[in-house]
Amino acid sequence: MKLVVLPGDGIGPEIVDATLTVLRAADERFGLGLELEEHAIGEVSLARDGSTLPEPVFESASAADGVILGPVSTATYPSPSEGGLNPSAEFRRRLDLFANIRPSRSVRHDAALVKDMDLVIVRENTEGFYAVRTMFAGGGEFMPDKDMALAVRKITRQGAERIGRAAAELAMTRRKKLTIVTKSNVLKLSDGLFLEAVTAGAGAFPELEVEEVLVDAMASHLVRSPGAFDVIVTSNMFGDILSNEAAELAGGLGFAGSLNAGLRHAVAQAAHGSAPDIAGKNVANPSSVMLSTGMLLEWLADRSDSNALRESARAIEAAVMACVADAATRTQDIGGALSTDAFGAAVARRVAEV
Ligand code: NAD
Repeated sequence: MKLVVLPGDGIGPEIVDATLTVLRAADERFGLGLELEEHAIGEVSLARDGSTLPEPVFESASAADGVILGPVSTATYPSPSEGGLNPSAEFRRRLDLFANIRPSRSVRHDAALVKDMDLVIVRENTEGFYAVRTMFAGGGEFMPDKDMALAVRKITRQGAERIGRAAAELAMTRRKKLTIVTKSNVLKLSDGLFLEAVTAGAGAFPELEVEEVLVDAMASHLVRSPGAFDVIVTSNMFGDILSNEAAELAGGLGFAGSLNAGLRHAVAQAAHGSAPDIAGKNVANPSSVMLSTGMLLEWLADRSDSNALRESARAIEAAVMACVADAATRTQDIGGALSTDAFGAAVARRVAEV
């Protein structure tokens, strides 16, 4: 089984490296037979090959069984015509990775601002308010004159139905509760359609409890009563924002695992960015990429019915959580003393023991 590894920018190489230490331990422990193929993207490949995502790298990644993608410093990339492609957007659009799965579970430590969060945000990943990447041709963000900027939000029945179905399938494996988050009281047409189509997509599972919550109320509920939610499905930008809020409440962005999944491809990627403020210091928390990689192994396990992959996925998550629960094996962002690579070694040891 081949995984393509793209370390990315900023803290990317450090947190991906720590993750590979853990992945190799899982490979050894469970006999996965992994082939890991690493390629440069981002600032490194821009300087060397003139593109932040060289086409041969994209092609190798699309041909692999899965991809581990580090965070990328898109805010400082040049324009696409100068080679500054957003790798994460390219993968989502070109591989049709329509579901962004972002779990948040309270860590067993004071870093968790809320103690009873165990939910998954399912974010529609190819439409919504990301106007620069949702059109067939041209961009949905434009300036009719120098003092006016417009952006178009795209919702389709097919897109909303399929994310509704995916979220419902996930909810059926958990507590059988699905919360649809919209702003349908104001955006009556676009979020009205989103609500109607997501509800239809979830309709295949009549035993599911389905409710609608408005996005502004949801921002409060996540703080006040996170335990009331299980699977939350929402459109692209609402999901991006709410998932960062949930991750911070559950223990910090360093635990924000995320999987971008389509029908045939999946890309593991932390929900946070490249954190240039702490890059190169060996202090970043790599748990996010470790947990994302565990999610990728679980996604692969579902397709191949492989117990070894499923056990590896569970062992990685359990090992990360066990290290965080122990004061001696915490990273510095949550008051511990371990560096990024030392935390990688500690998680790898736990994986080898389970
Ligand atoms: P960020 O998520 O990189 O950082 C926000 C804050 O969280 C920073 O203080 C950072 O130090 C901290 N943080 C993030 N990850 C951490 C970790 N693993 N351990 C400890 N602390 C962590 O957001 P930003 O500063 O707004 O963006 C930086 C760059 O990342 C920008 O170029 C942005 O475009 C890019 N970005 C990329 C992605 C992606 O690759 N998917 C997502 C968001 C932002």
